[in-house]
Amino acid sequence: MLFEYKGHIHIHTRFSDGSRLHADICREAIAAGLDFLIITDHNVWVDGLEGYYGDDRDGRVLLLVGEEVHDVRRQPPGNHCLVFGAGQEMAQHASDPQAMIDAVNATGGFCFLAHPIEIGSSLLRGGELDPLGWQDWEVTGYTGLEIWNYMSEFKSHLTGKLAAIRSSYQPQRYIRGPFGDTLKQWDSLLSQGRQVACIGGGDVHGSTYHLGPLERTVFPYRSVFQSLNTHLLTPKPLTGELNQDRDLVLSALRQGHGWVGYDAAGETAGFRFSGQGFRREGIMGDVIALSRGGLTLQVTSPELGHIRLLCNGTVVAETAGRTNLLFQTSEPGAYRAEVFTRFAGDKRGWIYSNPIYVRRRAQS
Ligand SMILES: [Zn+2]
Ligand SMILES: [Zn+2]
Repeated sequence: MLFEYKGHIHIHTRFSDGSRLHADICREAIAAGLDFLIITDHNVWVDGLEGYYGDDRDGRVLLLVGEEVHDVRRQPPGNHCLVFGAGQEMAQHASDPQAMIDAVNATGGFCFLAHPIEIGSSLLRGGELDPLGWQDWEVTGYTGLEIWNYMSEFKSHLTGKLAAIRSSYQPQRYIRGPFGDTLKQWDSLLSQGRQVACIGGGDVHGSTYHLGPLERTVFPYRSVFQSLNTHLLTPKPLTGELNQDRDLVLSALRQGHGWVGYDAAGETAGFRFSGQGFRREGIMGDVIALSRGGLTLQVTSPELGHIRLLCNGTVVAETAGRTNLLFQTSEPGAYRAEVFTRFAGDKRGWIYSNPIYVRRRAQS
């Protein structure tokens, strides 16, 4: 039996350039119905704040603290890395991304490359509106990619003053899914036989921007928590005990037992992607060795949608207007599922699963 939890990863507080503090952000998360949050302030790991926030009446949320590390002197800027589970400050390693990833792994923690591909804003330059993608793709040892970053996508729409005003007032009309180039990069890494997990993040700051006389808080915390989340499956339920629950959440994240869901377009809870063969089975994030008779992969969507199954980046099966897709295979590769839905008058990326890694028996 698996237990399902919805959380938001990649959040900034006033300890870096966010606009609010941890307890306040937890209140917004509880109102948005989240089970967990992972704070990732820029180049600062804030100790002593992890735990459950809220109460029995309004609900509780588990707050964990990671870090977003980057070299502030790097030119051009970029190489932002999300660090989880290190339990200590990692920013001192920022100038050498490979050394930083190795140092994080040595603590027992793990890394996801943040907003790995960015377009940036062509209207406003400077600071966080510049493209801040990953540059040093030769690094190894990271756990995964942040395949969908809400802020990156928003920035890419800031092409002119009118577009900026429109997209900040009606973001739902402009948010469509991960960048095609990010998915291409992910598939390229998967095709090399690597295991690369995925998360989605808001990169939420709750910042207020000014454009002439207009003032607008772009993406308040609660609205982002109701939009793009990372859903996890755990083998045991969360109990309310910090150390045990931290392990469950971080281990599911590291193993890729979950998916990225754009919950604004429809709640993605209940999504499943699994594989079954003779005496072998697994869920997204797992390695499954091919057995006699091959393997049946199954995608289950919580609502009708356009479901696609990809192997190493190539679509191998798809179905529209259904909640289920079954596919039999005897081919190894990294299989991942995508579901599209209609929202705000258009077709949107809705669910992006972690891969199931189907391997030949000898490699298992
Ligand atoms: Zn960043
Ligand atoms: Zn960030």
